[in-house]
Amino acid sequence: MAFRLAVIGLGKIAWDQHLPVIAKNQNFALTAVVSSRAPYMDVPSFKTPAELFASGLKLDAVSLCMPPVPRTAIARDAFDAGLHVLMEKPPAPTMGEFVAIAAYAAQAKRVIFTTWHSQYNAAVNEAKKLLADKTVKRLYVNWKEDVRRWHPGQEWIWEPGGFGVFDPGINAFSIVTKILPQPIFVSSCALETPSNRQTPIAAQIRFKPSWRGEAELTADLDWRQTGEQTWSITIETTDGQALELRKGGTEMFLDGKLLMAPAQTVPTSEYEEIYEQFVLLLNATQSHIDGAPLQLVSDCFILGRRVETAAFA
Ligand code: NAP
Repeated sequence: MAFRLAVIGLGKIAWDQHLPVIAKNQNFALTAVVSSRAPYMDVPSFKTPAELFASGLKLDAVSLCMPPVPRTAIARDAFDAGLHVLMEKPPAPTMGEFVAIAAYAAQAKRVIFTTWHSQYNAAVNEAKKLLADKTVKRLYVNWKEDVRRWHPGQEWIWEPGGFGVFDPGINAFSIVTKILPQPIFVSSCALETPSNRQTPIAAQIRFKPSWRGEAELTADLDWRQTGEQTWSITIETTDGQALELRKGGTEMFLDGKLLMAPAQTVPTSEYEEIYEQFVLLLNATQSHIDGAPLQLVSDCFILGRRVETAAFA
């Protein structure tokens, strides 16, 4: 029988990915939506998560697609209602809430699935394999996009807990933390923040290795790039191998040669993979909990130096 699923928060990512992907997956039956705005087709619709949980509607799981700040309280209510929870990225606004909600799920014996969509690409899995027994000597994350193009009208990204340029940057970190054979730590960080905003529009980060030895590990995040968008990660290892992931982890080059192109690496979309994974977790009543990308962002904000930049309008 299909898992009865509700989607909470019908914003951009719910419309772009969750709703169409769920519609195509026979393992799920979209049983309700929660939106303060319009309903979705003839699916039972509730204005708030509290109304849904009080409705008595029979559900198995919820997908939380709202921004991170309200996420933990909604997840807690979902667990109290006996439901399993899929979390959009980032799973929580702080590490404190992340650790607490993971523990709450365990206590409730419910599945929590912290998704990081950029991890669900074949090239990312291949990069992880190629790096498994290597030592990294250079990492460069070049993640530059146009905030006006990707986040029109989204005010929450500029508020505390909205992550600013780390909203896309955490996608790069989710790839890095998945593929590197050993963890990295934040060493220093400049947070270029518009004079009229609370969160950064650009960040330059220096990391340090968790292993003994020298390594040049840096990231440039920028939300002011118009024209062609850049989502690439370059990694050189001590044996001279140079690996590059481009286009958000869908394309891979090894020593300058194209090894995997998006057509090969994306037979199914990131979100199709996520929902296939969710089925496996639900069938096994097993959680998947990954806080490593959030930890790096949290450390950037702890160690970050604010550099005031031009007002953003
Ligand atoms: P968005 O377009 O601003 O939509 C967020 C939606 O969340 C709102 O429209 C609202 O839904 C709901 N919401 C807001 N506050 C809520 C609350 N207190 N309780 C319940 N629902 C609430 O944002 P988005 O781009 O979809 O991003 C949402 C999350 O997905 C973020 O964490 C983001 O990082 C992640 N994400 C976004 C993208 C992307 O391409 N945009 C890609 C991957 C992941 P209603 O209007 O229906 O009430």
